[in-house]
Amino acid sequence: MPEQWIEEIQHHVNTIEKLEKIINVTPGEREAIKTVKKKWGTTPYFASLMDKDDPNCPIRQQVIPSRKELENNYGMTDYLIWKENRATDEIRPDSIARQYRDKIAFTVTDICGIYCRHCFRKELVVDRDLKLQFDVDDGLAWIRQHPEIRDVLITGGDPFLLSDEKIEYLVRKLREIPHIEMIRFGSRLPIVLPHRITKGLKKVLGGFHKVPVWVNTQCNHPKEITEKTAKAVYDLLSCGVNVGNQAVLLKGINDDVTTFRELHQKLLSIRIRPYYLFYCEFAPGIDHFRTPVEKGAELIRDALRGHTTGLAQPMYVIATNIGKIPLMPDYALMEKDDEKYTLQNYKGEITTIPNVPE
Ligand SMILES: *Cc1c(COP(=O)(O)O)cnc(C)c1O
Ligand code: SF4
Repeated sequence: MPEQWIEEIQHHVNTIEKLEKIINVTPGEREAIKTVKKKWGTTPYFASLMDKDDPNCPIRQQVIPSRKELENNYGMTDYLIWKENRATDEIRPDSIARQYRDKIAFTVTDICGIYCRHCFRKELVVDRDLKLQFDVDDGLAWIRQHPEIRDVLITGGDPFLLSDEKIEYLVRKLREIPHIEMIRFGSRLPIVLPHRITKGLKKVLGGFHKVPVWVNTQCNHPKEITEKTAKAVYDLLSCGVNVGNQAVLLKGINDDVTTFRELHQKLLSIRIRPYYLFYCEFAPGIDHFRTPVEKGAELIRDALRGHTTGLAQPMYVIATNIGKIPLMPDYALMEKDDEKYTLQNYKGEITTIPNVPE
């Protein structure tokens, strides 16, 4: 009998007929699925978290195509070519995206557990009009030839959809490279298919080793967090794998103070450390998810900093072709003179500290 996670993938909910067995599909959703004609789908597990009747359900909005995907005022064509610096002089295999000196993103697959409507890699993963070759051995060979790389972020698609054997091979080969100090995986599966965190996978990722494994998942709404997720995260942590979250700021899904705070508190309650909050990138056809840039910093100011546990606070970043640019709420410097700095706290209260010369 196949493992449960494989059955979940085999029974992907990716037709109107299958979706109708789970929720009351609205005429708008039905029409969008027929007209948008882009890859979509979810694991039955994640679909089971959908509200049966409410089309504004945060799970439904992330999974079911919308006619709004056909509009595009702000998205860039060939977004991924720009973002991942694919048109530069440095010769790299398709699998290697580079913006920094000592770390790279290594794409090893273009399939996912769910096909997020807001995906910044949608040209590759959802629209599928960007054709790239993801040869793992070519990528490994490139990394071997670049001694300045010490941190490899394995991404996709969703790398945890690879078999245990393939993941084991990747981890082993990377650990054989003397300049690799850490391995990171970006995977949504702890959220959309927690069944994937099997004994076999823990064996591959876990254990005490001088090249540690870190996982960052993507959870955007408190509704995505279940007992199953909590257990999967515990299993990863207890075998030595760190787990963080990279949320995407999504209009109408998590851009209000209450949801935003609940999301970050709930992540901590299942031991996931919030890492990044991403501004919704300029991939084409996702304008309807995008807020003004300031929104993320305002939410951190109004929902998190000082309002709850400091560990709940991610770093808000805008991912660009020249790297991630942090944009934090600007409380601090109200005034500065030769003697003192004037600072403001989360309640708007003012205090001063001495200005120390160099
Ligand atoms: C996000 C990203 C990384 C990792 O960045 P961190 O800030 O260290 O998490 C590395 N390379 C590329 C191309 C990226 O997009
Ligand atoms: S899991 Fe990641 S790569 Fe896959 S569709 Fe969602 S955002 Fe895109």
